[in-house]
Amino acid sequence: MSRNAALSCDDHEIGNLMNDEQWCVGHLFNLRWPDGFVCPFCGHRERTVQPVRKITCRLCGRLSTVTSGTLLHSSKKQLSLWFKAVWWLIHNVPDLTITLLQKELGFASYQTAWIWMGKLRLALQIFVNEVSSGTVIVGAGSLPGKRGRLEPHHFLMAVESIACGRMTGRVQMARVDSVDALSAAGFIKKHVRPGSTVVLPECLPFTSLTDMAGNLYIIDESECAGTVLDDLIQQFSLWYERKKYRPVNLQLTQGQLNEFCFIQTAHLYPDKCRLFDRLLAAAISYGPVSAECLSGAAQPERGRS
Ligand SMILES: [Zn+2]
Repeated sequence: MSRNAALSCDDHEIGNLMNDEQWCVGHLFNLRWPDGFVCPFCGHRERTVQPVRKITCRLCGRLSTVTSGTLLHSSKKQLSLWFKAVWWLIHNVPDLTITLLQKELGFASYQTAWIWMGKLRLALQIFVNEVSSGTVIVGAGSLPGKRGRLEPHHFLMAVESIACGRMTGRVQMARVDSVDALSAAGFIKKHVRPGSTVVLPECLPFTSLTDMAGNLYIIDESECAGTVLDDLIQQFSLWYERKKYRPVNLQLTQGQLNEFCFIQTAHLYPDKCRLFDRLLAAAISYGPVSAECLSGAAQPERGRS
């Protein structure tokens, strides 16, 4: 298989390939190091190293693996299982549950499936990290704190639209500690392409944003933008309740927002093989994560290569 080779296959073909552990190692190796192995420790590049799971650097002598320093760091499971998890995720929108993943992969432990689902949700961040353009409705929502003793969980949202009431399907949501002009400015800077038209419902606390990043800001005095946002927030609340999320620290996590955004956005990516590679690439772009990261109590770090 040549370097940089993109997947071009049907369900049956890729199903067979994923049973081949060596193919999985080679494919991930080429996604991670398309121009040849780069030592995660010293940065030394070796273009002639063939794709293998374990590599010893000729310069510093340290041993690394194709998953070292990534979201899959220290995983003892076969790589083919991770490939199957990603493929399963792509084909089971919007019915993703930890129990189903556990059954699909044959894990005896629910905890292992919980960790894997958390990592998959992190990989889905690539869709939230994309930018919306054109007409973008920006708003905010919240979920009540659990058991009546925690603060509400706030989030900001951007909905890419063709015209008011007609969405493209691209939705971005980000967890924030509070909804104000500062958090909204940071969110818009990250998620809205400069030069876009940003529509803000008039009831929001950040309608003073008018001259940032070359965007045109419109305060929507009709109920159109507000209705779009209210519908989406209601969908999210119902979905969240239906999933019966009970994260260990009772926090709304960014991973849960990622999953909901992916459900809204998945139809924009009809090429499942390309999507598969994008999710694999996302998984190796993150560094190792702890259970605290997966439960939303801490932010994950980017990987080194
Ligand atoms: Zn090295």
